Amino acid sequence: MPESTPPRSLYRETADGTGSYPTLAGAQRARIAIVGGGFTGLSTALHLAEAGDDVAVLEAQQPGWGASGRNGGQVNPGLKYDPDTIEAMFGPELGLRTIDFSYGAPDFTFGLIKRLSIACEARQNGTIRAAIRPKPEAAVRATAAQCARRGMPVDMLDAKAMAARTGTDRYTSGMFDARGGDLHPLKYSLGLAAAAQSAGARIFGGSEVFALKREAGRWVLKTTGGTVSAEKVLIATNGYTGALWPGLEQSLVPVFSAIAATEPLTPALAAAILPERPVVYEAGNITVYYRIDADGRLLMGGRGPMSPIENASAIRYLTDYALRLWPALAGVRWTHGWNGRVAITKDHLLHVHEPEDGVLICLGYNGRGVAMASAMGAALAQRLRGDETSPFPMPISPLKPIRFHRFWPLGVKAAILSGRLKDRFGL
Ligand SMILES: Cc1cc2nc3c(=O)[nH]c(=O)nc-3n(C[C@H](O)[C@H](O)[C@H](O)COP(=O)(O)OP(=O)(O)OC[C@H]3O[C@@H](n4cnc5c(N)ncnc54)[C@H](O)[C@@H]3O)c2cc1C
Repeated sequence: MPESTPPRSLYRETADGTGSYPTLAGAQRARIAIVGGGFTGLSTALHLAEAGDDVAVLEAQQPGWGASGRNGGQVNPGLKYDPDTIEAMFGPELGLRTIDFSYGAPDFTFGLIKRLSIACEARQNGTIRAAIRPKPEAAVRATAAQCARRGMPVDMLDAKAMAARTGTDRYTSGMFDARGGDLHPLKYSLGLAAAAQSAGARIFGGSEVFALKREAGRWVLKTTGGTVSAEKVLIATNGYTGALWPGLEQSLVPVFSAIAATEPLTPALAAAILPERPVVYEAGNITVYYRIDADGRLLMGGRGPMSPIENASAIRYLTDYALRLWPALAGVRWTHGWNGRVAITKDHLLHVHEPEDGVLICLGYNGRGVAMASAMGAALAQRLRGDETSPFPMPISPLKPIRFHRFWPLGVKAAILSGRLKDRFGL
């Protein structure tokens, strides 16, 4: 099924407006041009414009059309790796910066939303990382111990506490991190775009950049309607990356993640499932994540088909799993189902590249971009401005295409199937 524009989702139905930014027309100049209008591109544009810089965002569809407007809305702290591993990988200095930055990203995001008064149902009720079996439990315990040693606000929850917080006895333990929370991602995306525009950024929708060339010492970005000539360019296309920059598409795997949403639950049922409304993600082979939104709907996310879907019947695996967790959901209607692309990298880390003078690339959030992409926007804006008051929080790496990239669909299918079997049979 081709992807619809705008993509159908619960968020699309409940956002106020859809964002309709004009198409780029004619030849324009900007100091900085940004390709991609998701959290990365919009937050960078906002911070550049607030610093008085001249910036234009070119989005193929409309702001928030990609993962930013359709994700699980979980604002989660940290990266895939534990703090000790990050320190070992990046060394003590950069490692500490990366840890502070990634675990601080939720506070940054909630602070930004408050400062800009974006009405996007933001709630900082914490994140629970839930363990089902002994192996994930050991990993969750190790993470909790490392976070606690660094003075972070985390608590280990035993099986009884997990049952009280999640309404199911499936979990052997979990880690609660008070910094996490949730939001309505499309309202947040549109709010960021509006804030960036009022700060002076020029935002264009329906403007896919199909060529990026060096001409007379500047970068020229071409769309079907016009061109932008810029000193510097940021490529922020994450899971929707195409052939714009050589080798970039081959440096990541654009895996679909899917979400099913119920009708609003009765207050009693919603309170039985997540009484305190944290967000939950499972530490399993194939991550399942869920939350109850501001309207009392259960949103259940995880892997699904590797092509666009538009209703919950396409992701029975997720809705069946929800019923196993909470049999009281029987009879509740699953009103919406949708999906979108997350960018997975080989090392499971976010990648920042500077392949040529004046070109910055930031992508590969591995399904953890709500907080990280928001915070990266401020760091990327500083780098694009040449402002060195605070050192950059992530390593800048050479662009490396993945070997045998063209075979990724087969590899992903095998990984999902084996993960599902392992999760189902508790292997
Ligand atoms: C279903 C789903 C659930 C998720 N759940 C969570 C979650 O709960 N918590 C979390 O932290 N993360 C989650 N994520 C990941 C998170 O949404 C992403 O990491 C984040 O939104 C990435 O933002 P971005 O701006 O880098 O990319 P995107 O939001 O994907 O934006 C990229 C944009 O680039 C545009 N584009 C591409 N090529 C061009 C071009 N040539 N010219 C112009 N524009 C172009 C696309 O149209 C797109 O709008 C989820 C993702 C999905 C899909």
